[in-house]
Amino acid sequence: MEPRESLKGIKRDEESCVLEFGDNSRFRVEYLAIRSRCQCAKCKPRQVNEQRRLELEQEVARLRMEKPRVTQVGRYGLQFEWPSGCSSGIYSFSHLRKVADESGLELST
Ligand SMILES: [Zn+2]
Repeated sequence: MEPRESLKGIKRDEESCVLEFGDNSRFRVEYLAIRSRCQCAKCKPRQVNEQRRLELEQEVARLRMEKPRVTQVGRYGLQFEWPSGCSSGIYSFSHLRKVADESGLELST
């Protein structure tokens, strides 16, 4: 079996996506959850503590969430191109697994 942190696939819907990992687990994750843990140079420092992370989350919640374009980066991450900006961050597979574990809804296989 592949490691639980390797991403095998992503299926994009309008407001959320399904992430499938190396251990065959699948999670439905809202784009809001992914975007509010944005990995770009501007947003990353805003996640150092819970207070600042919540502020960022509230800002993101006010944006119109649109289906992003997704590009794979090497063998370790994805880049999400959000229509409302913030597209330079790279979301490593291990980061996405963390977001899925914390905020995703695990789907039965
Ligand atoms: Zn950002």
